[in-house]
Amino acid sequence: MRLPVLTILLTVLAGSAAAADRPNIIFIMSDDHAAHAISAYGSRVNTTPNIDRLAREGLRFDNVFVTNSICTPSRAAILTGQYAHRNGVPVFNRFDSSRQTVARLLQAGGYHTGMIGKWHLGSDPAGFDRWEILPGQGAYMDPVLYTATGEKTYRGRYVTDVITDLALDFIRTRPAGKPFFLMMHHKAPHRHWVPEEKYRTQFENRWIPEPPTLWDAYATRTDALRENRQRVSADLTRRDLKLEPPAGLAGPERERWLSTRPDEVTVAIGGKTTTLTGEALTRWKYQRYMQDYLATVQSVDDSVGRVLGLLDATGLAKNTILIYTSDQGFFLGDHGMYDKRFMYEECLRMPFLARWPAGIKAGAVARAMALNVDFAPTFLEAAGLPVPADMQGRSLVPVLHGRTPADWRTSMYYRYYHDPGDHNTRAHYGVRTATHKLISFWKSGQWELFDLVNDPGELHNLYGQPGHETITADLKAELLRLKQALGDEDQFATEQPPAGVDGPVAKLRGR
Ligand code: CA
Repeated sequence: MRLPVLTILLTVLAGSAAAADRPNIIFIMSDDHAAHAISAYGSRVNTTPNIDRLAREGLRFDNVFVTNSICTPSRAAILTGQYAHRNGVPVFNRFDSSRQTVARLLQAGGYHTGMIGKWHLGSDPAGFDRWEILPGQGAYMDPVLYTATGEKTYRGRYVTDVITDLALDFIRTRPAGKPFFLMMHHKAPHRHWVPEEKYRTQFENRWIPEPPTLWDAYATRTDALRENRQRVSADLTRRDLKLEPPAGLAGPERERWLSTRPDEVTVAIGGKTTTLTGEALTRWKYQRYMQDYLATVQSVDDSVGRVLGLLDATGLAKNTILIYTSDQGFFLGDHGMYDKRFMYEECLRMPFLARWPAGIKAGAVARAMALNVDFAPTFLEAAGLPVPADMQGRSLVPVLHGRTPADWRTSMYYRYYHDPGDHNTRAHYGVRTATHKLISFWKSGQWELFDLVNDPGELHNLYGQPGHETITADLKAELLRLKQALGDEDQFATEQPPAGVDGPVAKLRGR
């Protein structure tokens, strides 16, 4: 009878030894930060020295993709390791927080867990020892954050700084003897792009290079692009552009004025008043948009620097996996747009940088095709915990260690549901490989096929063009294979959420 007791004792001791080695995980996620606004990814428009440190001292993933390029669905995919057709969040609907999530599993597995910042899932966080979140989208200035027991208004404070303060406090005050998992989610650089004053003034007179596709006229592409309402030229509101309402305007009238999409704007340039229209106005709108967007990114970069500083100063750095990502990419004037949703590269690609001195070689670059549904399995494997069979992603831990398995995926499945949504974007699904992309806008029966090697800007739709019959047939077969393998049985007859979840909610309060 003594042997089993000894065995149990040894097992417990071995377990606690392993537990002591388990890495901390800090997952910093911003909202709408495109990889091409990070200098480590070759940005032409800004520099991000602190985020770049993660690339220099860790690993830069070049092919991480979102499975549904919109905020709430991506957050649900990250938490559950499941695609939208499984996790119950295809659009802006409420996440059922009784579901299995990576946070719950890590907490049950002995991690001290925290969630600070933007949650935006319509229900309160579960599986966290400490959480403090913005209601819905939250506010840039004077932000309110709430907990299970109350809320606090941070008067005179900027949201990115407040989230950073709280996250650092979570790390400093964590209980001893346990690894921790922290989700630190920034609101920035989400619309309406309100910078803190020091960066607003720094960027207000900066000229931002225009992207090569700003004037894309969508020749050869489907109606979906022509129908979209996220164009820099036509769809930015006076609020987006930070235009000042006339004095005396109040209430609904003021709101109407701010929500208007102006087709002429009078500005003072060099002491002279000029009214801009047409192409000149589009150029001006692009500058106004990008100056503010990039100024909010600069505060996020500072935030990453503060986290790095604390890890370095406390000796936590070595065995802490520090990740920087965004819930999806974003159009920075690319194809003339400013939002996301489409399966095009600029918003399909997520920035993903990981530093972990104990497990990642500095300065590494990974080409492996990774997805947001891979994050949860990655954290679980890094923590030495089993990955549940109903998670649909695959752990990136071998990739972190520089050993991509030979049978790694070579294609990915994408599906966007929120039609028309705020920007009149058509529902679509598609497949991407290392070299090609096929998209089906199934409502109109229109398709797009791109050769990503010869046309990385996705300007030439090859669908139906002679000579592309074989690749088209292969990609259609692959799309169907992925759809079936992932259990997406919906026949694309509806863009509505599956039965059993709440309907779309325009303004998610969070409780
Ligand atoms: Ca987002």
